[in-house]
Parts: sequence; structure tokens; C-alpha cells
Amino acid sequence: MVSVGAPIWTLSFEDLAAWVQDRGQPAYRAQQIWHWLWEKGTPAPTLMSDLPVALRQQMESSFSFPLPQIVHEVQSRDGTRKLLWEMPEGGLVETVWIPHKSRYTVCVSSQVGCSLNCTFCATGQLGLERQLKGYEILLQVYAIRHVLKLPVSHVVFMGMGEPLLNYSAVMEAFEGLTQRLGMSPRRITISTVGIPKGILRLAQRKEPFELAFSLHSAIPETRKKLIPLATHISLEEIRAALGTYCEKRREWVTLEYVLLEGINDTPQDIEALRAFVSPPVRAKINLIEYNPVPGLAYRGSRRIREFQQALMQRGLLTTIRRSRGADVAAGCGQLARRT
Ligand code: SAH
Repeated sequence: MVSVGAPIWTLSFEDLAAWVQDRGQPAYRAQQIWHWLWEKGTPAPTLMSDLPVALRQQMESSFSFPLPQIVHEVQSRDGTRKLLWEMPEGGLVETVWIPHKSRYTVCVSSQVGCSLNCTFCATGQLGLERQLKGYEILLQVYAIRHVLKLPVSHVVFMGMGEPLLNYSAVMEAFEGLTQRLGMSPRRITISTVGIPKGILRLAQRKEPFELAFSLHSAIPETRKKLIPLATHISLEEIRAALGTYCEKRREWVTLEYVLLEGINDTPQDIEALRAFVSPPVRAKINLIEYNPVPGLAYRGSRRIREFQQALMQRGLLTTIRRSRGADVAAGCGQLARRT
């Protein structure tokens, strides 16, 4: 039984079919509604023109049709757009839409704020307000595609929050993306600070999504300075979980590495990275240009090319992620709900 006023987005097809049957309507009505909602992307019954008016009215009184409400929107010179919006169950989060050649990536938030407090990240300064529900994560993509009518080809869980500390909601959103919005799992990336339990749960899954791990330093002492959680969860423990993940799924992971001047760009860092990436861990490295955060003293390393070269010479596949949207604070680690 679905409770009165439940967000329509939380219903399974079976829920909807039961509701339709309870109203004495033919079974195909459930298919029609599902098609309007998820394939056509129609978020309101009034627009579902081939349904009887009475049924549309019954939908209005049985369910709610909440959408994120835009509070502020900015657009970067490079086309990146950042939305600050209020979620259906309250709380402000940011979502970023990043067009690049034929790719259109949506960067979604998985929590309102973040509990990790990473010292170089703007979101880290906010603290955690609450967990997002699965449908609230899914709606960030749904609204960009069907309300703002922007194309979406890829989704990354790299906005505010730590996806693996909101595991069930994130996986519910993932299933919505693939099963309701028809996205390929290959085009969905989950990024984590390194929660071994969560990584091991992901290792059991069969869908070919991508996993990224925010390493930032393979030297434990350096990593602890950047990521407070690293004092409680050791790199060995994370590495073991990643190894299991790679073996079980026969996959590679991506290691994210924000290159910071004088912090994690030394020759020792290169050697530590090389040691980290060895069987069973199979990984490519993604060097990230640091996006400045007001009030934080970190600076991006000028040696990013050299660092990449050095890693490549050691046989490590290494790419550079160019900063996008930084002029309007829409870049990685700049999501801080400033308007
Ligand atoms: N909590 C998850 C999801 C956040 S993803 C995780 O840690 O992976 C956001 C990515 O941007 C992470 O790799 C994060 O470490 C990185 N990041 C944070 N602040 C940044 C900044 N100022 N510039 C560039 N990247 C940053």
C-alpha cells in the first residue's frame, strides 16, 4: 500500500498497477502513466492528455508530484551550469551540468552538505545536514533533462556528499537512472572517499557502472592531513576492498588525485602511487586541477604535466581532468551553496 500524498517518483510499477486496479481501471492505464512519467518525462497529470480526466484528478489527490525548486542558477563561460535548488523534503543542494563536446554530464549531490570535512574542499566546510532520499537524487537528473530540457549522457556522483555513506539511496537513484530513465550503467560513475564496506557491496553488483576513489595521496600521513576520515580508515583497508572490487568485477577503478602545490606532488608521492597501483588493484589515475576555495590556503600544483609524465613513464595510465566551471564556483570541490 502506498500512503496518500506519496511522491509519485517513489512508486514501483507494481504499486502503480495496484493503484490503477483499485480504481477499477484497465491494466494498460498503468503502462500509460508510467510512460508519461518516465519515458516522456511529464511531471504532472494535467499534461497526460490520453488519460480520462477523472483518473488524472484521482492521481492528483492520491500522490504528490514534487520537483526540485531552483533558488539560484549560474552559467560558466565554458557552458557549465550550476543549479542551487531546494529538494522536495527540504534542504539546499547543488547540481552541475557540464557540456563537453558530445558529452553532457550531470554531477549530482548525494547528501545535503557533507560529513567528511576534507580540508581542501568547500563542501567539507558545511557539515552534514541530512541524507537525500533516492528519488531526490534521481530528480536532479530528471529535472535537468525533462524540466530544463538539457541533454544528459553521463551522470557522476561527485557533487555534495559521500555516496557510500548514503548507500541505499544512491543505489535506488542508480536503478532509477538505468531502469526508468534508460541510461547505460557504463555512463554512471560513483565517486567515494573510500568506505571499504560500501566498496565491497558495490563489488557484488553486476551492472557495469564506474567507480572512482578519491585517493589524493598514497602516503598515509599526507592523506590524513587532507582527509580527516583517513585517520580512522587505513589505506591498506581501502586498497584491499578495491582489490576485491577489481577482481570480482574484472574492472578497473579510477583514482582521483587533486594535485596540490607542495603537498602531494613530490617524487615520494609518485613512488607511493606506483606502489598503490599494483595487482589486485587495477587503476587509471585522473589528476584533477585544483579549484581554489575562498578562505583555504591550498594552491593547484604547476607540475601537473610533469607529474603525469612521471607516472606514465612508470606504466601508469594517467589523464588530467581540466577544471570546468571554476569561474562560477561550479567546479569539483567548490559546491558550497554560496549565492
Ligand atoms: N565524497 C566523494 C564525492 C565527492 S567527488 C569523494 O570524495 O569522492 C568530488 C571530487 O572533487 C573528489 O575527488 C574531491 O576530493 C574533489 N575535490 C574536492 N575539492 C576540490 C577542489 N577544490 N578542487 C578540485 N577537486 C576537488
